[in-house]
Amino acid sequence: MKRTIFELTPQPSIREAFVEASSFLDGLRVMESQRNAQLLLEHVLGLSGTSYFMALADPFPADRRHALEEAINRKAQGVPAQYIIGEQEFYGRPFEVTPAVLIPRPETELLVEAVLKYGRELTLRSNERLQAIDIGTGSGAIAITLALQEPAWGLLASDISPDALEVAARNAKQLNAGVEFRQGNLLEPFAGMAPDILVSNPPYIPAEDIEGLQPEVRDYEPRTALDGGPDGLNPYRIMMAQLPLLSAPPRLIAFELGMGQAEDVAELLRSAGHWKEIVTVPDLAGIDRHVLGISR
Ligand code: GLN
Repeated sequence: MKRTIFELTPQPSIREAFVEASSFLDGLRVMESQRNAQLLLEHVLGLSGTSYFMALADPFPADRRHALEEAINRKAQGVPAQYIIGEQEFYGRPFEVTPAVLIPRPETELLVEAVLKYGRELTLRSNERLQAIDIGTGSGAIAITLALQEPAWGLLASDISPDALEVAARNAKQLNAGVEFRQGNLLEPFAGMAPDILVSNPPYIPAEDIEGLQPEVRDYEPRTALDGGPDGLNPYRIMMAQLPLLSAPPRLIAFELGMGQAEDVAELLRSAGHWKEIVTVPDLAGIDRHVLGISR
């Protein structure tokens, strides 16, 4: 029978502990077993990169044995390594993540890039600061990164989940970013305001596709952060319907979306009629991943 509980052999070196952990995960068909084993070892040992490689021949410290066994066993159950470690890097900065928030994805960095690029082209209408809102902020990755890259912008962010907002607020504090967080459904918390920029990476997975997702995503990431209704487009439609809550439409709107959704989302923006230019941005895999509406 396949071994399902991970226990280290007595007195291994760090290298041996790595081999034992990665082959255990491999035997259970955990994806990226070596990368996961190294990440969890680094975390448990408080090492990273070079310091980890330098320590490979050292004995594995006995007082870290239980922590490693526990981390590897959680990974074996399918828990994403980021939730075990409690951290994911985004735009070169460490963000705390808990199961209350989606783990920020690398393609979302490109959404931030696009917002920075087109946002910097917006002319200030008065001497007030440019205001940007991030809808469904989760860990706060987008809002916090924008605030840190463009300190002159005023950043506000919403999420429907109070638990997510707690994580986002801790991230903002830890990274010294000035972001104001508000709880509520999509645009609701911003009624009466006229933000210059609206950015959102909302839940966009079609409800019936959720079952077919990778178990680590399906079973551990928050459903509210994934499920976008029957065709995945509900959050975009609701945001478009909520636009009149704002006292003026944003001059720049920027959405992340799922595979095959770019046409539909671009059409939603076009028919809203507020934006002169509609731009679609592909991700590194060539999938149309972001749609922007721009009116300078
Ligand atoms: N805005 C957050 C992110 O991009 C959360 C997105 C979500 O939960 N759908 O990481």
